[in-house]
Formats: sequence, structure tokens, C-alpha cells
Amino acid sequence: MPDAMVLPLLIAALLALAVAMWHRRVPPVVAARTTTAVLVLVAAVAVPTVWLAGLSFLTHAPVIGRWLDACVDSLGAHHQVAPWIGVPAVALAAVGTWRAVGVVRTYRGLRHTDGGVHVVDHPEAFAFTTPGRHGRIIVSSTLDAHLTAQELAVVLAHERAHARHRHDLYLLAAQISAALLMPLHPLVNRLRYSIERWADEDAVVECGDRRLVARTLGRVALIGAAPQPALAFAGLGVPARMAALMAPPVRRSGRMHRLALVLLIGLTAVFAAVQMRHLVDMVLAFCFG
Ligand SMILES: [Zn+2]
Repeated sequence: MPDAMVLPLLIAALLALAVAMWHRRVPPVVAARTTTAVLVLVAAVAVPTVWLAGLSFLTHAPVIGRWLDACVDSLGAHHQVAPWIGVPAVALAAVGTWRAVGVVRTYRGLRHTDGGVHVVDHPEAFAFTTPGRHGRIIVSSTLDAHLTAQELAVVLAHERAHARHRHDLYLLAAQISAALLMPLHPLVNRLRYSIERWADEDAVVECGDRRLVARTLGRVALIGAAPQPALAFAGLGVPARMAALMAPPVRRSGRMHRLALVLLIGLTAVFAAVQMRHLVDMVLAFCFG
């Protein structure tokens, strides 16, 4: 792999690691937005690198290489890539594209635009929000029957926060990034947690009682079924979310932490722009020779 590709990957990996360690020390809204931006940026740096490595390998492969011979100059793919890098790169690019298309298809199949709260007759206890503009809030009849009016108000406030802030789009961007680049999956779980915390804090603002939100979360987790769908009320990190609700709200991180993160994000954004430019050049070379 050319050295020019290694530095952007190292910086992107460092950024992903920094955000993974830092996301619980800042308000959830900051953590969710930063983590989503980092997921997209890291994918924008790494995916073109993987594609370029795969394509450089293919241009020198025995049979396919002859077919791609005309592209070598326009792609600048003069470096011969070793098979131990080239074969996984081609596989990662192909599988990643197939998985990303699957994520978009699933999203389009699940989205709703008519909003509202729908109680469905079901023996399990759950509540979640469907993706899409004006996402639909689904509450099972079992959960509805087990909760007091106050607790149900907490659940609905939490789910309305998901719909109002379009958390489905954060998850969609993150899931596409992780589909294209599988090592990003742990960061998607951290984003899910931050999004749930964000909705919990919105429920606190609406209901005015941190302990009530924490208690409702615990109650729903105890009577709910597992596994729960995305954006479910008690779907992820319940003990940690209850502990966060029992503690005072998280304040902004220190100035040095913020400065270091902004510098890393800025540097990764520059590398992402350069890599995306290479990718566009590659596509144009394929399409127009
Ligand atoms: Zn939720």
C-alpha cells in the first residue's frame, strides 16, 4: 500500500478511538452529532483507500488486468499491490457496497411519514419509533397496560424526541458507514447509546423529573422482551442510562479536549476530501476513460 494512504488511515483510526473514549463525558446531543460526523468522515477516508488498493491490485491481476490496462494511467495505479492487501481490499469493497445497498433498502421499507402514536395488540412489552419524516410511534398493548399514565408520558416523550430530532437519519448515516467499513460497528453502538441518552434527557425536560424517567426505564426493561428494535425505549444500555439519569446532567468537556477533537476532525476532513477526490477521479476514469 502506498505510504500516502497509510497516514490518512492512521489519523482516521486515531479519531475513531478518541471519540469512542470521549462520548460519555459530554452531553448526549454533542456526543451523537460528533460520533455521526466522525463515522462518516472515517468512512470517507478509508473507503476510497480500500477501493483504490483493490483497483490497483486488479489492474495488475493476470486476466482482469489486461481489460483494465487502459485505466492504469488515468487512475495513477502504477503501484503493484500485494495479494495479501489486494484480495481483502476487493472483497471488502464488494461486500461493503452490497451491505450498504441493503441498509438503504431496509430503511426505505420501514420508513413512515404519517406520524402519530399507534397502539398495537401484542403479548410483548415494547415501544419504538419508525424511521422517516414524522416517524410513527408504536406502543404495544402489553406495555400500555403495565404503565401508569405518568410512566407512559415518559415513554412517549422519549419516542417523540427520536422523531423530532430525526435520529433515524443519524443511524442511517452511521449504518451505511459501518456497512461500507465493518470495523466501524463498535462506534455505531456508541452512537446508539448517545441517541438513547439524548432522548432520555429530552424526556426529563418534558416530564421534569430525572428519577421518574430512570424508574420508567427500569420498569420497561424488566417487563420488556429482548431483543428490541432500533430506537426502542429500553433497547440499549439500560443500567448505564439509569445511572446517568440518577446523576446530575453531564457538562461540556474541558477546552483542551474540545480543541484536540476539533483538530483531529479537521485533519480527517481534509484527508476525506482528498480521498473522495481520488475516488471521483477513479469513477470518471472508469466511465469516460
Ligand atoms: Zn429510544
